[in-house]
Order: sequence, then structure tokens, then C-alpha cells
Amino acid sequence: MSRQIKSIRGMHDILPEYTGAWQWLESTLRDVLAGYGYQEIRLPIVEHTELFARSIGEVTDIVSKEMYTFEDRNGDSLTLRPEGTASCVRAGVEHGLLHNQQQRLWYMGPMFRHERPQKGRYRQFHQIGVEAFGMAGPDIDAELILMTARMWQRLGLDQVRLELNSLGSAEARAAYREHLVAYFQARQDQLDEESRQRLHTNPLRILDSKNPDLRPLIQEAPSLLDHLDEASSVHFQTLQAILTQAGVTFTLNPRLVRGLDYYGRTVFEWVTDALGAQGTVCAGGRYDGLVAQLGGRATSAAGFAMGVERLLSLLEDAGRLPAPPAPQVYLVLAGADTVAPGMALAETLRSALPGLRLLVNGGGGSLKAQFKRADRSGATWALILGETELAAGQVSIKPLRDPERPQMTVSMDDLTERLPELLALSGHIHG
Ligand code: ATP
Ligand code: MG
Repeated sequence: MSRQIKSIRGMHDILPEYTGAWQWLESTLRDVLAGYGYQEIRLPIVEHTELFARSIGEVTDIVSKEMYTFEDRNGDSLTLRPEGTASCVRAGVEHGLLHNQQQRLWYMGPMFRHERPQKGRYRQFHQIGVEAFGMAGPDIDAELILMTARMWQRLGLDQVRLELNSLGSAEARAAYREHLVAYFQARQDQLDEESRQRLHTNPLRILDSKNPDLRPLIQEAPSLLDHLDEASSVHFQTLQAILTQAGVTFTLNPRLVRGLDYYGRTVFEWVTDALGAQGTVCAGGRYDGLVAQLGGRATSAAGFAMGVERLLSLLEDAGRLPAPPAPQVYLVLAGADTVAPGMALAETLRSALPGLRLLVNGGGGSLKAQFKRADRSGATWALILGETELAAGQVSIKPLRDPERPQMTVSMDDLTERLPELLALSGHIHG
């Protein structure tokens, strides 16, 4: 045997036992998005490196050390997308979707970041991202947050809480930055290596440090909320009032700064204590400067992205993932001559009953082997087509989960009529 090739570290196969859960999560969220008037946009997975460098920021963790960047055959520098907002803005500008318009958009798919793999942190992971363009007020920030709250409700997720902050205007942030640098500079000896570096490149990010030793120092740091400009302060107050009236609870977290440079004013995260260190399942905020920064005309914008793996892991731990759907019916084909008429019968049933989950025995096998497969498939009923049944134009029906119920025989012609009754009997909902 030749050497086996393994998947890349931090990039995972999603195995069949889990794809049902993925599809359920995706379709549940798709329904909520449609209910708020958001439309899907599908974006390439690879973009020019410059797009991310210019939007996310050169000194952020993502751009400085996490991107999968490579040279195309013609020498262009390309990058596997680490997030979706930059691509979405690029596409919006490129196709003229943004100027003087309102757009409510979403996308889902894989993102790539070269991080240290651990639970909840992968090198290929999946996000569902949502972006709203052309609306400057706090109403749209509130809409995004209310929509996420509804998503958790539909998924049956109750271990998440909302944290909220405002980063203010660029000017207010610059003024605050000075206070913050002065504060940390006076306490340099208490910082760790990473934070000492950030002091000169991206001091706000120190507030976001995951080092528990720094927590007291960060707790005492000057608060962004004390340095908000008047307009941002009004915006933030209004957002809070809308959320409160709609019954969404939140906590203010002045240390919430987000790791991407493009945010301003509102930022929020949905966090949980149930996933250890990787506790943020959804994060976003307002990024009014980004469209112009990427060559479009100034356009208000806000959005968020959620980590699908983290959500699923949270739902799995809470026992909320739906069981993968088993077939309802397994067709046993006893004897080589029954294969052709059996497969034709299966097609007739599928045409008549479009919701039917019917597994046809494949690859022959003894009656015993076929029943073993039928049992393992999880089907509730076995249909048996043997030589005797075939000669009589009949099919036997055997209940697989209820030994009390007798086996019966029906005419092939009546089967499409009888089958729905039996499925209803065994509690199957179909349609
Ligand atoms: P973190 O602080 O956990 O590194 P982040 O601020 O880098 O998160 P964002 O860029 O805001 O994350 O991405 C939005 C969401 O995508 C995160 O809240 C998280 O749920 C998910 N996510 C981000 N990076 C990863 C990863 N490497 N593996 C799995 N999920 C991730
Ligand atoms: Mg990160």
C-alpha cells in the first residue's frame, strides 16, 4: 500500500453524520435572513492580497500573520479570504450596488486563517456574514442585532449573551488612543510581549488581550465610552433604547474593540462561557469608512459574521442538533430477477411521493444480509420484493421497529396509496 495522504492541519472534513446538522443550521438562518429582506451574494474565495491589507489593516493579527497568501502563476499576489466583508464591499463597489442605494446582503462559506488550531479555532472555518449598506442610523444596527437574537431563538440556543460598545468617530478614537497609550506606557513593566508591541502599532487591541494576567490592568484602563463624540453618543443611546424596547438584553463592554481596523461607532459580540477560550460566536459592527477606503463613494455600512463551527459545537453540547434523517423505507430485493422490476417500482414510488426517503438495497446479498442493512439504515419499514411477490404482482411490507405489528402483503398497484398511510401510522411527517 502506498503512503496515505492526510488533510491539512486545521482544515477539516465535515463527515456525513454532521452534514445534516450543517444543512439544518444553514436553512434555519437562511429563513430568518429572508424574513428580514436580506439577499444572498456569492463571492470568490480568492482575492487580490491588497484588498485585505487595505481593509482589515496592515497591523492586525489577520493581515500581519494569519493570511494564506501566494503568488499566482502570473506573479500576482493572491490571498485565500480570511473574512467576507472586504470581498462584499469590493463586489458592491465593482457592480455599482452601493452608491445611493440600500442593500441588505448575506453570504456563507469557508474562510482561511493561519492560526494555531484548537477547539473552536481552525485554519479553514465557516462564517455566515451579513452586511447592510446605505443606512447610517442606529436602526439598522438594531435590526442586525435583533435578527441575530431571532436566529439564536430559532436554533434553540440560549447560552449566548450580547456585549455592546461604541468606538466613536475616528477623531474621538484618535484622542482616546493617546490617553490609552499614556496609561499603558506608564505601566509598561506589567504588559506582556504581545501587548508591548501593540502599544506602538495598535494600542486599542491591548484591551482585547486574552492574557488573564493583564485583566486587572485592562479593567482599570481609561474607558472608550468616556471619550465618545456627541453624535456617536446619541447614536449609541438610540441603539440601546431600540434594543431595550424590543426586549433584547445586553451588557456594555468598553473593552470590546474587535480585531479589524475598519470598525467605528457600534461594535457587538455574542459570547458564551460554554466554549472555553473561543467564546465569541458572532461579531460585528458599523464600518462607515470602508467603502470609500476601497475606492467607492462614502457609504454607511454595518454587518456581522458568525462562526458556524462554534455555533454547531455549542448546539451539540446542549443536545440541540437534529438527528440525521433516516430513510423511511428500505426495499429488499430477494433474487436477481427482482432487481429491474424493483428499481422500476422504486422510481414509481419516488414520482408519486416526492418527500419519500427510500433506500433500495444495492449490491445484492442474502435475505439475511439485506435485512441487516435495512435495520442498520434506521428505516421504519421494509418493502420486500421476492420471486413469489413478483409473480403475484405484490409486495410484502414488514415493520422494522414494531414487533407487535404484523407483516402484510399489498398489490404493487396499491402501494403508492397504502404507503402514506403506513408512514403516517409510524409518526413520519412528510410532504
Ligand atoms: P477571535 O477573537 O476568536 O479570534 P475574531 O475577532 O478573529 O475572533 P472575526 O474576524 O470577528 O473573529 O470573525 C467572526 C467570527 O468567526 C468569530 O466570532 C468566530 O465565531 C469565528 N471565527 C473567527 N476565527 C475563527 C477560526 N480561526 N476558527 C473558527 N471560527 C473562527
Ligand atoms: Mg482572530
